[in-house]
Amino acid sequence: MHTLQTNESATPVPLLDLKAQYTALRDEIHAAMGRVIESQHFILGPEVEALEREVAAYSHCKYGIGVSSGTDALLVALMAIDLQPGDEVITTPYTFFATAGSIVRLGGRPVFVDIDPRTYNIDPAGIEAVITPRTKAIMPVHLFGQMADMDPIMAIAEQHGLTVIEDAAQAIGAEYKGRRAGSIGHLGCFSFFPSKNLGGFGDGGMVTTNDSDLADKVKLLRGHGARPKYYHKVVGGNFRLDALQAAVLRVKLNYLDEWTAARQCNAERYRQLFAAASVDAGLPYDVGFGRHIYNQFVIRSERRDALMAYLKAHQIGTEIYYPVPMHLQECFAELGHRSGDFSFSESAALHTLAIPVYPELSDDMIKAVVTAFSQFWEA
Ligand SMILES: *Cc1c(COP(=O)(O)O)cnc(C)c1O
Repeated sequence: MHTLQTNESATPVPLLDLKAQYTALRDEIHAAMGRVIESQHFILGPEVEALEREVAAYSHCKYGIGVSSGTDALLVALMAIDLQPGDEVITTPYTFFATAGSIVRLGGRPVFVDIDPRTYNIDPAGIEAVITPRTKAIMPVHLFGQMADMDPIMAIAEQHGLTVIEDAAQAIGAEYKGRRAGSIGHLGCFSFFPSKNLGGFGDGGMVTTNDSDLADKVKLLRGHGARPKYYHKVVGGNFRLDALQAAVLRVKLNYLDEWTAARQCNAERYRQLFAAASVDAGLPYDVGFGRHIYNQFVIRSERRDALMAYLKAHQIGTEIYYPVPMHLQECFAELGHRSGDFSFSESAALHTLAIPVYPELSDDMIKAVVTAFSQFWEA
């Protein structure tokens, strides 16, 4: 058995260290926020419009619409395609709650298709079998920063007249055969939650599209469906992005490629060091579609919970993304699913663990993680 001795001489390695990033950009960010404060223009406006252009260009899209969160990006995207109660949306059970939650909030029904156990992304081979006359859309998630297999998904969607909404919350700048996350489906949804690769100082999100009608619809819905002000064409909501968030995000966007390169470098370093230590750490599988941005570096172990406790005792931060797949969530009991329905997702929920991969990790920190793993397996 393992003893959970703490090793006081070990380097503490948090799962994420936002202070390191902030410290490096402090002056630039304060100047940008100061600009907004001096203008006293806090909601939408020129900073948000500039960010919309910049994120759209970065994501190879024509339009970007800044919204209040990644969750609201998904919700407003589904509203823009007129999702009606009883409509079905095909998605993955192994994701953050917002993916399925946004569908259910509009009265829609999430129809789950199990993941490819290697990539943890929806397996397109299972999609056609669950299409019904009520199917309206497919919502693939680019989990952990690696894109879902979009070619077959788009082919199926086209054949059946379905809309594709990419949940790209974890995948800004990720690529699939040279195309960027958020630019392949009809709509792309991004999150600027602080722990995402491009994170704000609070909540924020963006919807991207190449379709001018959809862009217009999202824009309308974002501001209570009003056009002009106080004349409401449709019932929307307050899904607006703050100018202060946009100002912070615009500064950070200039560094995003550098940070992505550092994440990729850290991922590669783990691969080298685990190989050198002959530790089978259940490393993430890069399917080779293109740029993987490693929002998370997720390993797999049959003894995940013991490993997690051991790493914690050695001051190494980890997290389980996600412990309960969507089909087994209490709030979705009405969907009538049971344990065993999506076995790859259930297995992933039991066995995966995210370890630190953030850009500012030092080589000593990466070595400390690998050393702790080795000790766990030797103990
Ligand atoms: C973070 C996340 C969201 C929601 O984004 P918020 O900005 O936190 O609302 C949606 N889907 C996935 C896959 C996410 O990781």
